[in-house]
Amino acid sequence: MRRAIQRALKRGVDVLREHPQLWLTILVAVAIFVSFAYVSNRFITIARDAQERLVNVRVGALQDAFAPLAAAFLNDAPALRMHMLRLAELNPTIVDFVLVVPSGSEWTILVSLAEAQTGTKLLGYDFLLSLAEADPARSFTIEEARSGERFFRTARAVTSAEGDFMGIALTRQTLSEADRSIANSIRSGLYVLVGILALLLFLFFHHARIIDYTALYRRLQEVDHLKDDFLSMASHELRTPLTVIRGYVDELKGAFKPEDTAHAQLLQRIDQSASALTALIADMLDVARLQQGRMSFTFSTVDPKLLIMDVCDSLQVKAREKKLSLECAVENAKIRIDPERMRQVLVNLVGNAIKYSDAGTISVRGTIEQEYFVLRVSDTGIGMTADEQTQLFSKFYRAGEERIRKETGTGLGLWITKQLVEAMSGHIAVESIKGVGSHFILSFPLATK
Ligand code: ADP
Repeated sequence: MRRAIQRALKRGVDVLREHPQLWLTILVAVAIFVSFAYVSNRFITIARDAQERLVNVRVGALQDAFAPLAAAFLNDAPALRMHMLRLAELNPTIVDFVLVVPSGSEWTILVSLAEAQTGTKLLGYDFLLSLAEADPARSFTIEEARSGERFFRTARAVTSAEGDFMGIALTRQTLSEADRSIANSIRSGLYVLVGILALLLFLFFHHARIIDYTALYRRLQEVDHLKDDFLSMASHELRTPLTVIRGYVDELKGAFKPEDTAHAQLLQRIDQSASALTALIADMLDVARLQQGRMSFTFSTVDPKLLIMDVCDSLQVKAREKKLSLECAVENAKIRIDPERMRQVLVNLVGNAIKYSDAGTISVRGTIEQEYFVLRVSDTGIGMTADEQTQLFSKFYRAGEERIRKETGTGLGLWITKQLVEAMSGHIAVESIKGVGSHFILSFPLATK
């Protein structure tokens, strides 16, 4: 047990040493705790004072009522006792109530709530009684304790109508009720304090964990940057040797005799792989440029029709190879874009539509809808599930199925497309049904001049 506590303390010190920001949390926690304890303590002191004052006021009022009665019934002890009993009944904190008269240097009990005390000497309150006798206009109170219970002893002189001193009314009131309610308040206060302590501890540990996560997040960001830098550097370095390879491939293409089909096929495979690698590198460089905000745009206000029809023409061959029909119809419009980046977007979207369709029609429709130029690239291809659609524009995302893996691709095209479209103030959305087809919908605000 002791070892476990030592270990926990050591770990706590280590955590504080590693994360000095936690000192602030501890300071705030201690300040909250101390403030609450101080305010509670003040509140309890004030409440206790108020309770005691109330008991005093009540007894004062009781004695104010009793003094004229005592003067009037001084010679009729049974009647006076009846009055005493009634007053005590009205004030349940009264546990003793006596009327004493001087007899020589001592005090004799003339009337008492406890009948047996009548006629006996009252001992031990000489000082209090002499105070009351000396100043008959006031009542005097002392506090006493018996077996853990607190009491107030209050003495007040009884005087005749002429002001002559006749005796002293002496009461003893218990403070147990007041003390009990204060004790209850203290107990509730303690519960709240323990609750606050638990909450503060929870906040403390939560904060410690968040600090850990923050450090981890920073580290991850650093690693992510390193990764981006590495990818960007590797892509640049790969580009030059690839260009050389593709150059040699082009040269070799003419070097084979028509009957040497085996070598020609090998060369074609090299060419295809080199093209795929070039595309991958181009994508990776674009990703790096977009992430670092280095992608340059040359904006101009253009009619996108020509550009779209041109992309359609260039992709007809690919569509025909797959026996797909590619239909394009575009209204004239004016939008502010970078035509080269727009071409890149269109080649990717129409290229994907061809790549992920096995039969049917690819349609590209450009229309003006209110203040927007809306372009729909629709296919009758493999489509996507709702879940796949939510991840579609993430980097490196490719649907997991076999059919997708058959196609070459990086999973970067749609991420780049989205970034480019948004950089040109456009918006991209997708609607798709698995096994039926997909619609990619682009919208760009029409140029005002
Ligand atoms: P790539 O095509 O290189 O894999 P993209 O970012 O262009 O990368 O596309 C990401 C993924 O989105 C694809 O792998 C495919 O799963 C899905 N996808 C994109 N376009 C279509 C489409 N027209 N029909 C069905 N799935 C598509």
